Amino acid sequence: MTDKKIPKPEDIQKEFEDFVHKRFGKQVQIIAQEFPKFAGANNTTESEKKTTDDQAEDQIRFELKPKDIKEHLDRFVIGQDEAKKALSIAVCDHYNQIILHQKDQNSDASEHFSKQNVLISGPTGVGKTYMIKQIAKLVGVPFVKADATRFSETGYMGSNVDDLIKDLVNQADGNIEKAQYGIVYLDEADKLATSGTHNGRDVSGRGVQLGLLKLMEETEVDLRSSHDPASQMQAFMEMQQKGKVERQVINTKHILFIVSGAFTGLEDIVAKREKSVAIGFGQQEINKKYNKFDLLHSAQTGDYIKYGFEPEFIGRLPVRVACTPLDEEKLYGILKNSEGSILNQYTHAFRSYGIDLIFEDGALRELAKKASLEQTGARSLMTICEQIFRPYKFELPSTDIIELKVDAELVRNPRKKLQDILQNADFEHRKEVDEIRDYETAFASKHGMTIKFDQAACKLICQKVAESDIQVNDFCDQILMSFEHGLKLIQQNTGQNIFTLGAAVVEDPKQELERMVKDSYNQGL
Ligand code: ADP
Repeated sequence: MTDKKIPKPEDIQKEFEDFVHKRFGKQVQIIAQEFPKFAGANNTTESEKKTTDDQAEDQIRFELKPKDIKEHLDRFVIGQDEAKKALSIAVCDHYNQIILHQKDQNSDASEHFSKQNVLISGPTGVGKTYMIKQIAKLVGVPFVKADATRFSETGYMGSNVDDLIKDLVNQADGNIEKAQYGIVYLDEADKLATSGTHNGRDVSGRGVQLGLLKLMEETEVDLRSSHDPASQMQAFMEMQQKGKVERQVINTKHILFIVSGAFTGLEDIVAKREKSVAIGFGQQEINKKYNKFDLLHSAQTGDYIKYGFEPEFIGRLPVRVACTPLDEEKLYGILKNSEGSILNQYTHAFRSYGIDLIFEDGALRELAKKASLEQTGARSLMTICEQIFRPYKFELPSTDIIELKVDAELVRNPRKKLQDILQNADFEHRKEVDEIRDYETAFASKHGMTIKFDQAACKLICQKVAESDIQVNDFCDQILMSFEHGLKLIQQNTGQNIFTLGAAVVEDPKQELERMVKDSYNQGL
């Protein structure tokens, strides 16, 4: 018997394509399907297998404490303290439990543990997805997000819930081991409610809930779908080679599910219940006590069932938490303190045109104020920034501007400010300005000190270069001839490492350097 090696999926696809082209001509195209690299698949080479085994060992190493996760989230996510705490605890419980299970599969604790799947309620754009993404990144597990509205019970009119798990495997580059410790995040879960009053989807919504229920509990998902020609092809080849087809399944027992939604209307159900409990309180007192988000915080299982969820479905989501809307102060905090602030994105975008953005605090306050008028949480910051900065991004890279100070006035009246800037800008010398910026970068990497010519210095360099027909590089070399030594002295005296150079350096470099060095000695006294 010949010991024929099983071909790789890519080879099968290639052979299949050749066959189809030969038979039907090149007008028949095969839509290439990316083959997942399943860890357990027989086509895994020894070295690949070793890596996946190593990864599998890595995946179950989890040493974080709830406070570690919360501290990590605090760097990025502003506010939402309750949600951050609840998620941190749920995630630690979940992964600690997996470790326990792997150490002793028959232990009592392992057998009776119920998974800490999470339900987050709250409006759009307040950090729900952001928190979960950050957690998945920190823990190092694959993560998928999908909208519940994408699914239908049968998969006929939409996707099937099992696709979530397949997406997770794809996210893990086909590594099933890794995927089975992943996080699945399902947004707009409120749309699955079956009660007609809340835009629910009735029959189909219930079916999807039941499908999800199975996944949340524990089931095996077959990764080879009968609708997927690529996996069918692979199965066919395996059948031919080995006389049997190996199933590729993933168990969902250790996958953490997080569902979220706005749950509009749920607060009314909670209020009704709480009011009926609170007989004896005056109406006004009750209204004062319960605002919409306090009510969402205190939603109970019965409230969710009334809202249109199956008791078993809601029962599989024991950790519940409400995210609050972001007020002006929080939006300001996001701009100022979040490591993921949208302002970084703009700073980088302008920087790649050689323009430094300098944000004044007043501008951040004004941006937050404008954004708080929209009702889309932190997303409104993106909308507002885009509106304000788009014309600047279009115009400024073609001028000699190297720095844009963003103050409150610019945010209040961006068009007027842009007009003023453009009136005084030079459109002729951007090329030279870019060369100056390249020179600065080269200087920093050569000497380990950052220099930056200010706007006036840049203007003067462009002027001098144009007058004397000299290259920017050579001109800068000439004026900065003694600067390496001089700046090192200043660095020793003051610890300074970034030097802004004004027009005086271009006019009379020797004299200006002397002044700078003298000043540094005075500062050192
Ligand atoms: P949703 O609550 O609808 O899931 P997201 O988490 O996707 O909203 O928020 C959209 C973006 O807004 C995030 O990627 C993040 O940049 C920013 N953002 C939202 N909420 C916060 C927050 N509380 N702190 C910091 N950034 C936030």
